[in-house]
Amino acid sequence: MITRDECAALDAVDPLAPLREEFILDDATIYLDGNSLGPLTRSARERVATVVDHEWAEGLVSSWNAAGWMATPTRLGDRLAPLIGAHVGEVLVADTLTIGLAKLIGGALALRRDRHVILTDIANFHSDIYIVRAVAHFADRDIVVKTIARDELDAHLDDDVALVMLTHVDFRTGEMLDLAEVTSRVHAVGALMLWDFAHSAGAVPLDVTGANVDFAAGCTYKYLNGGPGSPGFIYVRAAFQGVLENPLPGWLGHARPFDFELEYTPASGMQAFVTSSPSIVALAALDGALDVWKHVTTDDVRAKSLVLSDLFIDLVEARLAGVFGLATPREHVRRGSQVSLRHAHAYGVVQALIEHGVVGDFRDPDIARFGFTPLYLRYVDVYDAVERLVEVVESGAHLSPRFAVRQSVT
Ligand SMILES: *Cc1c(COP(=O)(O)O)cnc(C)c1O
Repeated sequence: MITRDECAALDAVDPLAPLREEFILDDATIYLDGNSLGPLTRSARERVATVVDHEWAEGLVSSWNAAGWMATPTRLGDRLAPLIGAHVGEVLVADTLTIGLAKLIGGALALRRDRHVILTDIANFHSDIYIVRAVAHFADRDIVVKTIARDELDAHLDDDVALVMLTHVDFRTGEMLDLAEVTSRVHAVGALMLWDFAHSAGAVPLDVTGANVDFAAGCTYKYLNGGPGSPGFIYVRAAFQGVLENPLPGWLGHARPFDFELEYTPASGMQAFVTSSPSIVALAALDGALDVWKHVTTDDVRAKSLVLSDLFIDLVEARLAGVFGLATPREHVRRGSQVSLRHAHAYGVVQALIEHGVVGDFRDPDIARFGFTPLYLRYVDVYDAVERLVEVVESGAHLSPRFAVRQSVT
C-alpha cells in the first residue's frame, strides 16, 4: 500500500501543485466538496473588489457602457466555451442552471412540433425533473415526460421523442455517460439532445462540438468555483442560433433594447437567450475564478483527478475492507470526478468526518460523497482524508446520536 511519504513525493513533482496557491484554503481542512461549492480564488476576490469599488462605486450607471457590463454574459460564455469544447459565440452565462434548462427545453419543444415525448433519467437531479415536467405542462400541446432508467434508453427512443435530457455525470454515484455515443443514438431517431453538465464542467474534458451536442446547460459554482449561486451557462450549437427561440424573452435579449419596442425581435447569437439584467457582481466572481484555466487544461485536470480518485478508492478498500459499498464505477471512462461510498450511516460518517477536518457531503439515502478537484487537492490530502475516515469508523464517531437529525443542507 502507498505510504504518506510516497504521496508527498507525488505532490513534489505534480505540475498542477502550484495552482493551489491561487485558492483561499485553510490548511487544517481537507476540502472534498468542491463538487458542491468550489472554494474562493484570489483572482475572484480581486475581481469582485474591482467591480464593486471602482466600476460600481465610482462608475455608477456609466459602467454599463464604460466597463462593458452589458456584454458580460456573452464575454464569460466565450471564456467558458473552451472548457466544454464549444466555439466562441455558442455559450452564454446567465440565470441559474434550472432556468437555463427551462429555456432550452421550451425552445427545443418548439423545434419538434409533431412529437410528444421527452425522455429523462429517473435518477436525475430533482430540480431537472421538476423543470422538465413544468415546461411540458405549459407547452402548446400534450407532452409526456417519461422518467426512465438510463440504460433502457434504446427501448424508449422512437419517432415521437422530441427531446432527451440527461445529466452527464450522475450527482449521486459519479457515473459518467458517453457524450458522443448517447447523443448519436438520440439523433438517430430525429430527437434533440440536451445535456446537463452540472458535475462535468471543469471536472472532465468535454467536446460538445465533436459529440454533435445540440444543447447543454451547467452551473458554475461547483467545479468552476464561481461562488455560491453564481450564474449558470447554456450552450446552443451554432446551427441552432437564430432557429432556437428563447421561451422566456426579456428586454435584454431584444435586438434593440433601448428602442423600447413592444414587438419582440431577438438579438442575434447567444444574446437572444438573455432575459434580464446581468448579475454583475456575481459574474465578476466567476470572471476571476476562470483565470485559473489560463494555466491548465481539462486534460491535465482529468489525468490527476483519476489518480486522486483511484488512490482514494484503493486506500479505502485496503484500510476499511467491507465497510463501504462503492457506488462509483471503477472504469475510468465511466467515472466523473467524485467517489461515492455507500454506508447505512452515511450521514453520520460525513458529519463525523467534518468534525475531523474532512469536508464531504451526504446524499440521500446512503451516500457519502467526495469530490476530487485537482486544482487544489494534493495526494497527501487524499491519504490524510482516508486516515481520518479510518479514525471515524474505528471510533464509532459516526454513530453519535447527534447525527440522528439532519441539517437543512446535507
Ligand atoms: C447542482 C445541480 C443543479 C442545481 O441547479 P441550480 O438551478 O443552479 O440551483 C441542477 N441539476 C443538477 C444535475 C445539479 O447537479
